[in-house]
Amino acid sequence: MMLLAVQVGSKRKNNSNGMGNGNYSGICHSWGADGRCISLLKILFSNCCMYDCKYCINRCTNSVKRATFTPREIADLTINFYKRNYIEGLFLSSAVIRSPDYTMEMLIKTVDILRNEYNFNGYIHCKTIPGCSKDLIDKLGNLVDRLSINIELPSNESLKLLAPQKEKTGILAPMNYVSKNIKQNRLDKNKYKTDFVPAGQTTQLIIGATPESDLKILKLSENLYKKLSLKRVYYSAYISVNNDKNLPTLEAPPLLRENRLYQADWLLRFYGFKADELLDEKHQNFNNLLDPKCDWAIRNLDKFPIEINTADYFALLRIPGIGVISAKKIIRARRSFLLDFESLKKLGVTLKRAKYFITCKGKYFDKVYKFNSSFIETNLVYQEKLSIPNKSYKQLSLFDNLQNSNFQFSSFQSEKQKLLLFNKIQPSKEDKIKCLTGNL
Ligand code: SF4
Repeated sequence: MMLLAVQVGSKRKNNSNGMGNGNYSGICHSWGADGRCISLLKILFSNCCMYDCKYCINRCTNSVKRATFTPREIADLTINFYKRNYIEGLFLSSAVIRSPDYTMEMLIKTVDILRNEYNFNGYIHCKTIPGCSKDLIDKLGNLVDRLSINIELPSNESLKLLAPQKEKTGILAPMNYVSKNIKQNRLDKNKYKTDFVPAGQTTQLIIGATPESDLKILKLSENLYKKLSLKRVYYSAYISVNNDKNLPTLEAPPLLRENRLYQADWLLRFYGFKADELLDEKHQNFNNLLDPKCDWAIRNLDKFPIEINTADYFALLRIPGIGVISAKKIIRARRSFLLDFESLKKLGVTLKRAKYFITCKGKYFDKVYKFNSSFIETNLVYQEKLSIPNKSYKQLSLFDNLQNSNFQFSSFQSEKQKLLLFNKIQPSKEDKIKCLTGNL
């Protein structure tokens, strides 16, 4: 279990006369079922770990300062922060102290104080410790909103190499148990007094610490969504904090790859793509210079062009530059009139991507029909480069995807202006809500 710090973008520290510290972090954000943003206190119960995961700063073989809270300390901290309006909920994780069961008992005690002593009804997301007993999962699941069990690495071989105390079946078994309990609880509402994990379960995968391909990772995610109904799979670029012969030497965390996997994950969940369509044995990794939909489209030019005025919803979703919102707008608008390229712009279609793959009223955009795959690729890569700001390895936002943006670059002259604006673009509120709540 790794606690991911939330960057606050400030280095200002407190002094002996003041209060507050701009440098420390610990508040992160999540989204409720209604799309509302919730501030969470994100905290480790303990960093005294008995395990030796090679990639983790808190592994037992590292010489780092160790600390463990008591359940009451975390409960009091949460309530006091809540009363001061700093946070609306808690994201509680922990290293493995003494044993998985003991750690789970500590987490349960903490949440129990919050729920049953302080009557705290705010959002609580808690990690489950693989290897703990089922009755402890039941107890915790009846107290919290969301549970997560981190898969950490995409294969058993990698787990053996880098997290020798963990194994795939030991992680998948509790996930399976949580999934079955959630389904059972929803089917038989009258039998159960409380909702079991009402906000569903999630997991996290570390990207780039081991050699698994994007295809292998996406297939794993696809199975988790299909078989265990996971709400989200989170991808976390490997950040080097330890020296170990089994760890890769990376110049920088693979943040662009992480972002591409998030984009591909959207394609799996909301756009009707399958993992082995997006990638195959010949192409096991995405071309990171392109977004995954463009990458797929260029390798499948025989499926294009798609006629905008007749294609069904799912065919429209396969066109680079057309997202869920614009596909729906197209379907609505063409009931009244036949669409041309001008009307597509007005509907928010990103024509700089879409123009290579579509026809309107049977006509290509300008002289696009003469273009071949390498020409399209070169142009799309050039456009994509605008989104990689100056090779500084900035954490890319989940919402850096511009497929649904209504923004048009054409009215701005300089590359610098474009770049500045590009970095400010956000998808519409509707898009964010739907993607984050899985209601697309
Ligand atoms: S279980 Fe592994 S990843 Fe989690 S805190 Fe311990 S050493 Fe780190």
